[in-house]
Amino acid sequence: MRATNLYAPTLRETPAEAEIKSHQLMLRAGMIRKAAGGLYTYLPLAWRTLKKIMEIVREEMDNAGGQEIAMPIVQPAEIWKETGRWSVYGDEMFRVADRHGRKFCLGPTHEEMVTTLIRDEVRSYKQLPLMLYQIQNKYRDEIRPRFGLMRGREFIMKDLYSFDKDEDGMNVSYQKMYDAYTRIFSRMGLEFRPVEADNGAIGGGHSHEFTVLAEAGESNIAYCTKCDYAASDEKAELTVIKAVEEDMKELEKVSTPEAHTIELVAKCLNLPLDRTIKAVAFQSDKEELILTFVRGDHEVNDVKVANLFDDVIELHMATDEAIAAAGGVAGFMSPIGLKEGTRVVVDATVMEMYNACAGANEKDKHYINVNPKRDFKDVIVADIRMVMEGDACPHCGAVLKMTRGIEAGQVFTLGTKYSEALHATFLDENGREKPLFMGCYGIGVSRTMAAAIEQNNDENGIIWPRAIAPFEVVVVPVNAKNDAQLNIAEKIYTELKDNGVDVLLDDRKERAGVKFKDADLIGYPLRITVGPKAVDEDSVELKVRRNGDMVKVSGAEAATRAVEMLKEL
Ligand code: ATP
Ligand code: MG
Repeated sequence: MRATNLYAPTLRETPAEAEIKSHQLMLRAGMIRKAAGGLYTYLPLAWRTLKKIMEIVREEMDNAGGQEIAMPIVQPAEIWKETGRWSVYGDEMFRVADRHGRKFCLGPTHEEMVTTLIRDEVRSYKQLPLMLYQIQNKYRDEIRPRFGLMRGREFIMKDLYSFDKDEDGMNVSYQKMYDAYTRIFSRMGLEFRPVEADNGAIGGGHSHEFTVLAEAGESNIAYCTKCDYAASDEKAELTVIKAVEEDMKELEKVSTPEAHTIELVAKCLNLPLDRTIKAVAFQSDKEELILTFVRGDHEVNDVKVANLFDDVIELHMATDEAIAAAGGVAGFMSPIGLKEGTRVVVDATVMEMYNACAGANEKDKHYINVNPKRDFKDVIVADIRMVMEGDACPHCGAVLKMTRGIEAGQVFTLGTKYSEALHATFLDENGREKPLFMGCYGIGVSRTMAAAIEQNNDENGIIWPRAIAPFEVVVVPVNAKNDAQLNIAEKIYTELKDNGVDVLLDDRKERAGVKFKDADLIGYPLRITVGPKAVDEDSVELKVRRNGDMVKVSGAEAATRAVEMLKEL
């Protein structure tokens, strides 16, 4: 393609509304334009990259046994009512009505749609396993659409659904998708980690998030420095930290005036934080109080706490009144002396402490010499703390480190949750009717493009990995008004095209500086410069965007050399 025929309106200034790099750079590189909050037009450069991402995804889905279909984006409310998600999905769902008042939504995901699609026609185990997928726009009315394509209200997703006859089959499909995702992100040239994830409201089964490592990411990931264990901070399992055994001293109440945070208590009593016990009070969706306790230097993980109870979906901070009703005093709480029947969860590491300090359920008072094993009655003991850098890996014991990442894809086993709700059954080998075992697997295609930029950029612009670059090579005649230069550039351009290279000829009659700046900003992996020396000395310059490496070759060699160099990019 020729740049004179490319609509890529680049900007010199960084738009003020863009907070993160990928958003800024996509606007500046003339890749996207905003239509409204969370809604964007993809201009030609972005669309070229998206098509490349979609093609990689498509190839790997097909290789893994997936079959591509296209389901309607507009979905009838009835099927969502069958699973109960019409009400559960809440404000995030875009809802519309037709001229007769019949209700629909714009699909945020397609479990209901795909399950009702096949439920009447997949009747025998002989039709299984089955994997159906599509790549299309999804709609979610996010509370805070932001960061450009990272959290849009309309975004492109690949969603695949697997159907199997039993749990083993489901796990085989899961593994196939896990492997396909690993290949997809590797082929795109991205640094990523599959991390064990909480599968939240979907319930049961297992889940991994495929996370592209980048500072701007919203996911905190704990990963092992020795083995390949990695988990989201919500999910990371933790081993119990055993304290050195001591003689248990007698419980004693001491005065801690105004010490309503654990740091103030530790200061007041001159204790290290790891000898104190910290309380955090939650209330469930049904407003039931749940008191939790962790070591003073640890943080409570509310997702782990919520997962302990079947009847709890989400937790919020408890009110002082709710705490008082259970016999506690906010800021001075302990598991000792609460009303019977209060739900108390104590982190497993706390149970190993000796002669520690905890609240006394009395204003301005704490206990010292608290020995949980002796003093805590009727408490639930579980791993409820947040992972920290330096914790031990649950698989091999080596040190865990923390990093940040962007969730670009997620794989889930669903079990029979949807097939039971929607009566999607089949007859097994023995003629028995059984619910289908399902899995669902999503990749945020547009978010992946943003994540790739987040991970690959410098002060001058984007640095595309070759596999998903809008063009692999840009050929720049320094002076496009000079026929000799333009001729050489055209030759190289044609030869590259004939070799199947995705190449752009920057034939604009702009100043060289402008063209170089644009090339860096848009981030083509390789730039071939044809200047006066190409005419006078038969020397053209090949420059690698990522590291600035430069080679000079003759005009005749340029295309062949470029093809070779691209293999490494
Ligand atoms: P998040 O936790 O970031 O809101 P999610 O877990 O709700 O995402 P899934 O339902 O797992 O998202 O959707 C599959 C993929 O779709 C995600 O891994 C992500 O890449 C992408 N995705 C989800 N929401 C958005 C969004 N608002 N904008 C862009 N991509 C999104
Ligand atoms: Mg997800």
